[in-house]
Amino acid sequence: MDKTTQQTTGAQGNRPVVGRFAPTPSGRMHLGNVFSCLMAWLAVRSAGGRLVMRVEDLDVRAQNPQNASLLLDDLRWLGLDWDEGPYYQSKRGEVYAAAIDSLAERGLTYPCFCTRSELHAATAPHASDGTYLYQGTCRGLTPEQVAQRSAVRPPATRLMVPPAEDPSGTIEFTDLAFGPQREVLAQECGDFLLKRSDGIVAYQLAVVVDDGEMGITQVVRGRDLLGSAARQTWLSRLLGYEPPTFGHVPLLVAPDGRRLSKRERDLDMGALRERFGRPEAILGALASSVGMAEAGEALRADELVDRFSWNLLSAHEQDIVVADGVLV
Ligand code: GLU
Repeated sequence: MDKTTQQTTGAQGNRPVVGRFAPTPSGRMHLGNVFSCLMAWLAVRSAGGRLVMRVEDLDVRAQNPQNASLLLDDLRWLGLDWDEGPYYQSKRGEVYAAAIDSLAERGLTYPCFCTRSELHAATAPHASDGTYLYQGTCRGLTPEQVAQRSAVRPPATRLMVPPAEDPSGTIEFTDLAFGPQREVLAQECGDFLLKRSDGIVAYQLAVVVDDGEMGITQVVRGRDLLGSAARQTWLSRLLGYEPPTFGHVPLLVAPDGRRLSKRERDLDMGALRERFGRPEAILGALASSVGMAEAGEALRADELVDRFSWNLLSAHEQDIVVADGVLV
């Protein structure tokens, strides 16, 4: 399909649009997170849809509880509101456990004892989201081997993907910005994690269960997660949900191509609020970087709703460069 002629907004099929914010509170939001949130918000508001707020605080040990409240406060200050939530992944362990159990009962999971160093020795991660191709090392363990190894250390849980020649393991979907996508799960990721050996539920499982349970129809997020969309589509079908439509948006990067990170303190929301003083200046600068505003224009979020278009984003597959704190 020609990307420029695809449907720009509106309900998908007969479903009204339900989008979400799904931030991980691992530090103060930075300009790149704000950009993704702005695009997710505009995509929903321009389609007359609803927005759910979900705080992705699965790995609670890595997070400071204050981060989540700062994050919600920063979004409100920006004028990016939501209609439902916040939900907290850290409180939803039972829902995830039930989903993993249902997959296990269908014989689709197995325990994996591979250590991180074994995985890295076998294959290098090939995507910025840490995706690697799992070789199926633990798929064929006998019950005796599983019992022996479990006595030494707890296993992770993996989900089996169909072999490459089985068409059900080839996932096709159309990204709202990146156009048609096709991925053979057995060749891109192999059997993937549902739960880590320390008991923490894997991102892929939590996000699919939550999007499914919360009725999410449209997922808008940074293009670093484009490679997760096929796994999520497949897992959502397995769990009986209708997969959402995906729209991946450019990342903000430093001039050397490095992704902006929360370590860049001069671009975090604390520093940005001080430097720009008002949300309109930040939102206008972000919008102008993808042609939704003129350079130097300051606009409120609601003033940008009518300017949002997927065509502008799909014309902008390259990352957005930030130099000296300024979008270029
Ligand atoms: N929590 C993830 C992040 O902050 C986003 C997950 C998603 O949008 O699917 O990077």
